[in-house]
Amino acid sequence: MSLMNCWESIRDKTENKEIDFEIFYLLLSEFQKINSYQKKRNVEKIIKKYCLVNELLWFDLFVNNQIFKIEYRYECNDVSCSEKISEAKCDLCGEKVNEHDEFEIFVRLTKNIEEYLKEYNRNLLFSNINKKYLPTLKDIKKNLSDVVFFIGAGVSIPLGFPNWVNLLKNWRKDWLKNRIKKNSKSILIMVMFLK
Ligand SMILES: [Zn+2]
Repeated sequence: MSLMNCWESIRDKTENKEIDFEIFYLLLSEFQKINSYQKKRNVEKIIKKYCLVNELLWFDLFVNNQIFKIEYRYECNDVSCSEKISEAKCDLCGEKVNEHDEFEIFVRLTKNIEEYLKEYNRNLLFSNINKKYLPTLKDIKKNLSDVVFFIGAGVSIPLGFPNWVNLLKNWRKDWLKNRIKKNSKSILIMVMFLK
C-alpha cells in the first residue's frame, strides 16, 4: 500500500470521485503536523477548509478506511478515562461510555497512514534534491560523526523526525534511562523544563 493507493480507494467510494490527490495529501499533512489526538469538531473544521464536499462524508470515509482512529474520552466520578469503542462499558460505573457527561470524540491519523505519508514525503524530498550535492552530503556524513543538519521548518515532521519538544522529550527519556555521562549537564538543563 502507498498514499496513492489509499487515495484511490477513498476516491472510488465517493459519487463523483471528488477527492483530488493534492487536497487529500495537504489535508493529511496538516493532521500529521498536529501529531496528536484532536477533538472531532476541530478535525471537521480542518476538513472543511480543504474539501469541496460535505465534511461529514469525509470524516466518515476517513474513519471507515482506517485513515483516522478514534478515541472516546469521558469523565467518571472526576476520573478521566478513554475507550476505543463508544458502546463499551465503563470500568468504574458499568454505564456505557457514550452515556457519560464530558463525553468527547478525539481523532488522529492511524500509524499506517503516518508511515505512508513519511514515505511519500521522503520520495518527494529526494526527487527534489539536487543530485550534484549528494556526494558532498555523503562525504560529510562519512567523515564527521557529530554533524547535525539544520533543515528548513516544516521538513522534519513530514519526514518522520520529531519536532523540538518531542526531541527534547526523547533526550529527557534517554537521560533518565541511561544518565548519559557525556554532556549530561547541558542535556539536564534542557530536560528540566519538561514535565
Ligand atoms: Zn463511568
